[in-house]
Amino acid sequence: MADIIQLLPDSIANQIAAGEVIQRPASVVKELMENSVDAGATEIRLILKDAGKTLVHVIDNGSGMSDTDLRMSFERHATSKIRSADDLFSIRTMGFRGEALASIAAIAHVDVATKQSSNELGSQIVIKGSKVIEQQPCQAHTGTSFAVKNLFYNVPARRKFLKSDAVELRHIIEEFQRLALAHTDIFFSLYHNDNEVYHLPPANVRQRIVALFGKQLNEEVVPISESTEMLSLSGFVSKPSYTKKRKGEQYIFVNNRFIKSAYLGHAVRMAYDEMISKDQHPLYVLYLEIDPAQIDINVHPTKTEIKFEEERVIYNYLRVAVKHALGQHQVTPSIDFSVDYNFGSRDQRSVPSSTPSGTGGGDTWSSSPRPPSRNSVDAWEQVYEGLRRDATSQVDTTPLTLGSKVDTSDHVDSSRQMVITDKREPHQVHNTYIVSHIKSGYMLIDQQAAHERILYEQYLRSIKEQSPVIQKELFPDTITLDPKRAQLLTSMLPQVNKMGFEVSEFGANSFIIYGTPAGLQHVEKSSDLLERVIDQYAANVDLKLGVDEAAARSLATSAAIKRGTKLDITEMMAIIDQLFACEVPYKSPAGGKCFIIQEMDDIRRLFVD
Ligand code: ADP
Ligand code: MG
Repeated sequence: MADIIQLLPDSIANQIAAGEVIQRPASVVKELMENSVDAGATEIRLILKDAGKTLVHVIDNGSGMSDTDLRMSFERHATSKIRSADDLFSIRTMGFRGEALASIAAIAHVDVATKQSSNELGSQIVIKGSKVIEQQPCQAHTGTSFAVKNLFYNVPARRKFLKSDAVELRHIIEEFQRLALAHTDIFFSLYHNDNEVYHLPPANVRQRIVALFGKQLNEEVVPISESTEMLSLSGFVSKPSYTKKRKGEQYIFVNNRFIKSAYLGHAVRMAYDEMISKDQHPLYVLYLEIDPAQIDINVHPTKTEIKFEEERVIYNYLRVAVKHALGQHQVTPSIDFSVDYNFGSRDQRSVPSSTPSGTGGGDTWSSSPRPPSRNSVDAWEQVYEGLRRDATSQVDTTPLTLGSKVDTSDHVDSSRQMVITDKREPHQVHNTYIVSHIKSGYMLIDQQAAHERILYEQYLRSIKEQSPVIQKELFPDTITLDPKRAQLLTSMLPQVNKMGFEVSEFGANSFIIYGTPAGLQHVEKSSDLLERVIDQYAANVDLKLGVDEAAARSLATSAAIKRGTKLDITEMMAIIDQLFACEVPYKSPAGGKCFIIQEMDDIRRLFVD
């Protein structure tokens, strides 16, 4: 029998490949605009007729192509973006598969004019159904003008299945918005049937969000900016007060590439907890930057799905970061978060970074004698009244009096005069933030973040110096864990004991608790605390912290006073005092800010605009 296997002609092979890459006009828009971005364009114009069914025209001011490259760009697997398989692991460009133009040319009429800046003349090519109809020199601006007409003219089945113009246009706008958000420094415009739909000058992310989704968003978004060695995260999430019934305003970009990930979307969603109901969707625009070697974007032809090496770490990171950003806004809605409070430098100027005064060891606010009750504070404030005038004049020349030690046992100690004056008495807002006057304005301290920082440094010291202060249990508590948690606890047992627990293994996943770290009177049962520490520890180990750090952080987050806890003045002052005796007072162990500073000038400006 004769041989029957033949290679398909290119035009048919391209048509088949096109089925994967080009599903509808929006796919053409995406591929062409991504090519413009990759070509370094700073201006990209999109012109459409009949929702792209008749015309998709993209004009950019990017690098342009040489005559030969223009011809080559329509070959399958022709790309200037990767040269070897190794390059696949360091991809920064949008395209790399080299199949978009070949696919588009197989199923449409294509007319391209392009010019490189170093050339006098440009080059023009006309292709129909993979056949080059003509190529010739032409006059052109630097950049590329790419027109795709009569999409699917030779694949009637596909053309018939296109949806109404309204639906196809919606898909296009979706792609356009993703790209406009991924590259806010690029000018974009969109015309449909001669009407201008978008006109987006280069902007920052907040301005771009407002330009795309409406003015009201300016008030409704909270910024996020966090980074670790492994990745960084920035962007905006909407407050719980801004949600929609319909999905569609959720954007996650990885290295400026829009990705679809139900998993990471879930992480963001979880950060909102109970704040919004299940059928509501917040807006978010989040940018993850991550070493390209850590991800695989080559899993799907349209490249909106990627695989992460460390998916769970990223999940946790996202959830915590968003939660933290939302927590910050909850009680301070009037502060303009777009202002960048540069703590690094401000810190050195006005806050003593570390005071050696006896704040080390077990001497934390909570392990010192129980702070006096509200009544006794009132009482000593009256005693104090007479001293106030002197104290005030002394204080006014002091930039920020937080380094001095507060001694809660001696109410008329002279060092107090530095801190407690009429003007400087801290206040608590919504049982969550401490407001403290400083010379240049005021400071808002997140009590939970601050206490976590204080305890974290204390526990880390205990582990390193082996100097825990233990509170013995009158009746030792026994705790039985599931095998996984039991194993976790065993692995962190040395650290747990150095921090002030006295726990020993009892066999069969059981443990006996003889003692707990001193100074945690506000914490419930010791076994509950230990269980929380183990769960925290599991999450922290995921974050690849060292065992000591993970253990200290777990106990600090478990034991810290929570937002929503009422504090009296002495407690607030102890927190302020000890926070600024910390080595890193401005960040909680999880990376959230412990305080923000609002300067008088900024406050004044808020009233003017
Ligand atoms: P890919 O983007 O995956 O490389 P494409 O088929 O989309 O593959 O494009 C093929 C090649 O054509 C690109 O690698 C690039 O060199 C060139 N090219 C396409 N569009 C443009 C453009 N607007 N400006 C400059 N070069 C372009
Ligand atoms: Mg491309």
